[in-house]
Amino acid sequence: MKKTIEDKLFTVAIKPDEKKNHISIIRPEVCLRQCGDLNRPCTFFCPAKVYTWENDAITVAYNNCLECVTCRTGCPFENIDYQYPRGSFGVQYKFG
Ligand code: SF4
Ligand code: SF4
Repeated sequence: MKKTIEDKLFTVAIKPDEKKNHISIIRPEVCLRQCGDLNRPCTFFCPAKVYTWENDAITVAYNNCLECVTCRTGCPFENIDYQYPRGSFGVQYKFG
């Protein structure tokens, strides 16, 4: 049976940092005005589906981040400020 993204994310424990978001969109107006023609690639290159396009803005579910760092190079406008989570926060692999 094919595994869904939710099945795969279940194999990873993530300790969220409620005080500090480690990902931010630098210029939201670029997402709105310049990235539509490129189909907003962050909404499909992120393996954890952290980015979604809703109500004319990118929402960032940073607590699902797997720390693969693809978004630092994947955004065609270098519009994502990605920092690793603070020490002791973030991914903690359960299996493997
Ligand atoms: Fe915004 Fe970059 Fe995502 Fe495009 S790929 S919608 S510019 S964050
Ligand atoms: Fe998604 Fe990887 Fe960026 Fe985290 S680091 S938001 S998993 S692309």
